[in-house]
Amino acid sequence: MLKIEKIACPTDHIALKCPYAMKPTRIVIHNTANDATAQNEIAYMHRNISETSFHFAVDDRSIVQGIELNRNAWHAGDGNGIGNRQGIAIEICYSKSGGTRFAAAQKNAAELTAELLKKYGWGIDRVTKHEDYSGKHCPHRTLDEYGWSYFIGLVQSFMNEPEKTVDDLANEVIKGLWGNGATRKQKLTAAGYDYAAVQKKVDEKLGKTAKPKATVTAKKTVDTLAREVIKGLWGNGNARKQKLTAAGYDYAAVQKRVNALLK
Ligand SMILES: [Zn+2]
Repeated sequence: MLKIEKIACPTDHIALKCPYAMKPTRIVIHNTANDATAQNEIAYMHRNISETSFHFAVDDRSIVQGIELNRNAWHAGDGNGIGNRQGIAIEICYSKSGGTRFAAAQKNAAELTAELLKKYGWGIDRVTKHEDYSGKHCPHRTLDEYGWSYFIGLVQSFMNEPEKTVDDLANEVIKGLWGNGATRKQKLTAAGYDYAAVQKKVDEKLGKTAKPKATVTAKKTVDTLAREVIKGLWGNGNARKQKLTAAGYDYAAVQKRVNALLK
């Protein structure tokens, strides 16, 4: 995981931004609805005079912490409810425009979330979203573009296992776990993986494991086949039809020729 950069809340803003001691019980996920970096989100949060505050801002290349985890922050829109008074707030940057920066920020936030769950010994049920506490549709892009279950899955992937190797990922792709085409590319990229490397491995594996192509044998003519049929080499009735069809021949044409020869 990226190193957490800590920037202390200015002492003269503690009463405004994080007035209460807190024993956290949950994580609350947000999207910034903005296009600023994590550094700038925290810097702006520290200096402005609104009480709005959050513990972390995460972008595609940094995790910045601006409020201590034993202090509350004002982010969940539930007044003195459990969102604001017991929640560790994580803001995911670049949700206004989205794209690859947002996807990478979201992945970093999921990794941070997993680290916090491990640190506190919490289960995945401790991962909540702003929308759970107030009417605000937040984290908007995570919900609209990716889906909440996708984010939860991302967190779980960081909890369950170390970073997957390209080989593991290629096997998962072949099993169908990452979808196809553009979806596959988007999902792998959003999860922080090198799509091109994984796809190359997939192609290699499929090339290696694919059955050798059947040697192409010259197709027999309808006449040859009709004579084979008459000799009894293709069976009778349905069996004959099935065998000829399976071998790639036109049963009707062969049968017509058989009938002509037998006249
Ligand atoms: Zn929010």
